[in-house]
Amino acid sequence: MTERAADVLIVGAGLAGLTCARELSAHGLAVLVLEASDGVGGRVRTDLVDGFLLDRGFQVLLTAYPETRHVVDLGKLDLKPFEPGALVHIGGRLHRVVDPFRRPGGAVATLRAPVGTVGDKVRVARLALELRGRSVDEILGREEVATGSRLRERGFTPRMIHSFFRPFLGGVFLDPALDTSSRMFEFVFKMFAAGDVCVPAKGMGAIARQLHDALPVGSVRTDSPVASASSGGVTLESGEILRSDAVVIAAHGPEAVRLTGLDDIPPYRPVLCLYFGADVAPVREGILVLDGEGEGPVSNLVVMSRVSSTYAPAGRELISATVLGDAARSPDAAARARAQLRRWFGRQVDMWEPIASYSIAAALPDHSPACGGVQARAVETDGGLFVCGDHRVHGSIEGAIQSGVRAAGRVWRVLGGA
Ligand SMILES: Cc1cc2nc3c(=O)[nH]c(=O)nc-3n(C[C@H](O)[C@H](O)[C@H](O)COP(=O)(O)OP(=O)(O)OC[C@H]3O[C@@H](n4cnc5c(N)ncnc54)[C@H](O)[C@@H]3O)c2cc1C
Repeated sequence: MTERAADVLIVGAGLAGLTCARELSAHGLAVLVLEASDGVGGRVRTDLVDGFLLDRGFQVLLTAYPETRHVVDLGKLDLKPFEPGALVHIGGRLHRVVDPFRRPGGAVATLRAPVGTVGDKVRVARLALELRGRSVDEILGREEVATGSRLRERGFTPRMIHSFFRPFLGGVFLDPALDTSSRMFEFVFKMFAAGDVCVPAKGMGAIARQLHDALPVGSVRTDSPVASASSGGVTLESGEILRSDAVVIAAHGPEAVRLTGLDDIPPYRPVLCLYFGADVAPVREGILVLDGEGEGPVSNLVVMSRVSSTYAPAGRELISATVLGDAARSPDAAARARAQLRRWFGRQVDMWEPIASYSIAAALPDHSPACGGVQARAVETDGGLFVCGDHRVHGSIEGAIQSGVRAAGRVWRVLGGA
């Protein structure tokens, strides 16, 4: 049956699709978001398993994200901050690297940590100061090279790059080779320096739920995979045809390519996130622990229940361990991860209970210059479809939200809005 379902149909209820729906609803348009899966949030969802809150892959919210601050009411998320800085595992010990601007008392330990030279630490401080003086637009408009090349250009030593930037930025970009565009590096670095790193008390999925709950009732249909789309409507896999004045594709990765036919959508990188339950936390703080020697396969680890006690039932701890790159696809990744963590923390690791693992094939767009780098991509196709998603801006919560705002603005203008 063919029916006019809404003014605008949006395919995908991730942060981009939900933001687009929110903006268009605010203009008074009737929107219907069609979501293939059984819930909203896309890559930002949280499962509740035996009292543990499991984000679908370890991720964090940076409170300095500018568009996110406009769209999401951060005050209502009950945000729990990470301890600034990181603990870097080198030579059988954890060494603290702190942000000297936030924890001046830790600056001495940072200078002594065998993570880089004193000159490297001065370069970090200089970089933070320099980026503080540049706007986000300026940063994203600068000439781009691979992040690894930019770090070398800035004089960082190979040791600093290998033992700190590789696991830290590699974990942010899911790119241990640091091929990602320097635009992304400088943007992310500025965001880390300017605000807090947090998770909502109810898990990352609370961000998407807040956007969803602000929409008129009935604006989202889950379990509704879209088979094909045109400028005037969509066909669901069930065969149902829905019509509208405009269609926005807010799917990601290969699905976005299939539905839009666009050839400027970059390939996506994989990640594997392992969750363990334990009676005793291997690290007492809610801080990022980095693999400073590149032994792998775990690149970073966090005791989530030390960031927010809500992430684990009373008396238990939740540990997240992230595996990047080809190792994330390897069938023996979990066994190798446990062996590595046993080397880090000893026999207590044998007591850790595997709670769940999330293997995400298309986790983040590949923003290496060879794949087109970071650039604002068009939100309308030649075929009259509108498009949003992190691949239009950059792979992050901020990029997805910004893309939703941009696509909504374009739809509104094309449909005759002011
Ligand atoms: C493990 C991991 C860690 C991350 N870490 C961070 C971090 O720390 N900080 C940060 O800022 N960002 C992080 N990100 C990135 C961030 O989560 C994403 O960039 C953002 O959520 C993308 O949102 P989106 O709406 O563009 O896409 P998605 O969230 O992928 O939404 C697309 C939606 O479209 C739906 N869909 C697809 N095809 C169809 C179809 N045919 N019909 C109907 N629906 C369809 C999907 O089911 C999905 O719900 C991370 C991502 C992952 C996976």
